[in-house]
Amino acid sequence: MKSQIKDILELAKEILEIPSPTGYSEKIIPFLISKIESMKLDYEVTPKGNLLIHLKGHDSSKHVALSAHTDTLGLMVRSIQTDGTLKVTTLGGIIVPTLDGEYCHVITRDNSMISGTILYQSPSSHVYKDANSGVREVEKMMVRLDETVKNKDDVHCLGIQNGDIIAIDPKTIITPSGFIKSRFLDDKISVAILLSILDYAKCSQQKPKYDTTFIISTYEEVGHGTAWIPSTITEMIAVDMGCIGDDLACTEYDVSICAKDSSGPYDREMISSLKDMAVLKSLNHVIDIYPMYGSDVSAALRGGANIKGALIGPGVMASHGMERTHADGVEATFELIKSYLNIE
Ligand SMILES: [Zn+2]
Repeated sequence: MKSQIKDILELAKEILEIPSPTGYSEKIIPFLISKIESMKLDYEVTPKGNLLIHLKGHDSSKHVALSAHTDTLGLMVRSIQTDGTLKVTTLGGIIVPTLDGEYCHVITRDNSMISGTILYQSPSSHVYKDANSGVREVEKMMVRLDETVKNKDDVHCLGIQNGDIIAIDPKTIITPSGFIKSRFLDDKISVAILLSILDYAKCSQQKPKYDTTFIISTYEEVGHGTAWIPSTITEMIAVDMGCIGDDLACTEYDVSICAKDSSGPYDREMISSLKDMAVLKSLNHVIDIYPMYGSDVSAALRGGANIKGALIGPGVMASHGMERTHADGVEATFELIKSYLNIE
């Protein structure tokens, strides 16, 4: 693995360790700002909480954008039960059966973190006939807190209330064989790629071709991440995970260029041009359609942005479950973005 790509994976691990279920960005955005400030780059935070980083280009006649989302899937406390366990509701479209047995933290209103485990309502095979066969749906899942709680009042005493965020442990591991396996590679691997592009451009003293805004969005998983973008932007690429599975062409070693998702086709000219750039650099790449997907470009278009849009990203296997991608897919994405920005 190239050291530059290893650094991206290590940065991704750092980002993954900061909980940021959609609707809770108060730790992750300050962390990302500290990185941007250390690079001495211009940035702003929108009222909604998206982070925008502005780079001057060689040519200011056009303003383009790249986005990645830092919000993840998660859970929220639905109610506190009489036995001191928590009923939950989902934040975004997580694969609920994969949550059975996962460790988590409840984040209270005063930012205490209380550890627990997500379990099916019949969690013991010595007691419940349906411990194996029961359908793991969200209404039948609970959180068992790692505190001495025997009733509702005990839970309230910890500061836990309905509506508290529950962050699921990402369990990030980088293997010697070049894989990064973790929850929420969608889309924190792309956030790490974009930060690394900014760092690379800064260190090599290169400007992008056009004025470019990097958007780190905070509500993508619920569909409105970049519903607003600055009106001067005329072209945007969402950098988000590539889909893998069924009859799709993508693998974890590729950068995926999306031709169409649930929101419809992406800009044909941009797709062709990204494809040409990938061919020119001999990057592992595929063009695919994503059967069930929407991106921040979809959100911007629905929000009324007058832009051409594309969607690219490293192939991520088992998305919204226990995800995995490979250094090769990350490298291909990194290189394709460099080509798009016209930096060497
Ligand atoms: Zn995503």
